[in-house]
Amino acid sequence: MADTRASQSLQSPGRVVGTLEGLPHSLRRAFEASADFRPPPAPGPHDWLAQHPEPGQTFDQFPRTPHHRPGNGRTRLYLLPLGEFPRWRSPDLRLLREFAAAFFSVEVALLRALDLHAASIPERKNPISGQHQLDARAILRLLRRRLPDDAFALLGIAMVDLYPDPSWNFVFGLASPSERVGVFSFARYHPGFYGEPVPVGRTELLLRRSCKVLAHEIGHIFGLSHCVFFHCLMNGSNSLAESDARPLYLCPVDLRKLQHSIGFDPATRYRGLLDFSRKVGFEDESEWLEKRLRYLDGTRG
Ligand SMILES: [Zn+2]
Ligand SMILES: [Zn+2]
Repeated sequence: MADTRASQSLQSPGRVVGTLEGLPHSLRRAFEASADFRPPPAPGPHDWLAQHPEPGQTFDQFPRTPHHRPGNGRTRLYLLPLGEFPRWRSPDLRLLREFAAAFFSVEVALLRALDLHAASIPERKNPISGQHQLDARAILRLLRRRLPDDAFALLGIAMVDLYPDPSWNFVFGLASPSERVGVFSFARYHPGFYGEPVPVGRTELLLRRSCKVLAHEIGHIFGLSHCVFFHCLMNGSNSLAESDARPLYLCPVDLRKLQHSIGFDPATRYRGLLDFSRKVGFEDESEWLEKRLRYLDGTRG
């Protein structure tokens, strides 16, 4: 199903990307469904699209879907660490802030970490695994009260596992796009959570996974739905393996939606992401971004 839709969309990219007529050359080039973008992989029986058939959201549908845009003095993204981020099993918060600023081309502020005990957030020991977990809905309520006046959105990030409801085992994250708040945990992105060693030479694994979830969830707050047209950061995911398979970039449909909301120059944004990717050793991402920049400046067909 998803594959059929995807191949149709790639044959007629105008149907999902929207008409590019009348756009400046630099934007037309950025939103073309070039060979740099692939259809989504066919879902396995337990993958997101097999279990949650979604119609997708074309570019033309996007402006008609209620969503917030930065503006009216509300332009900054705020990251609020919830409790400790122990160095040995946590992504570097300064790098996460830097990544979010490059990805969304907006100012991103890192707030001082919240003392979990003082905040008295409801918590529990998971009845099956015994993991210490925080109540994600209570955190969303707390974030709503703390939303700064100039915030486009406030995101809580944690290294403690989360649960959305007593009947659930856990949740990777929870967002309320209409209220511009979200919370997610990186706890399950460290191989140590599953008792596995960090593979040699893969020290960037936790940072990449954290960057992916951060950009995906903030993408939802910008009003981006799950993507079914391309292999894309906004593809839904049912498992860590499916999340890992997602690329760290947006397809042309979602890139166009984000650009429509924020108004960045796509080449400048790619250059910022390339600087970041080189700095942290994201080799595949650096290669892809270099390729895209050559396509955008016309030195590659
Ligand atoms: Zn999602
Ligand atoms: Zn997409």
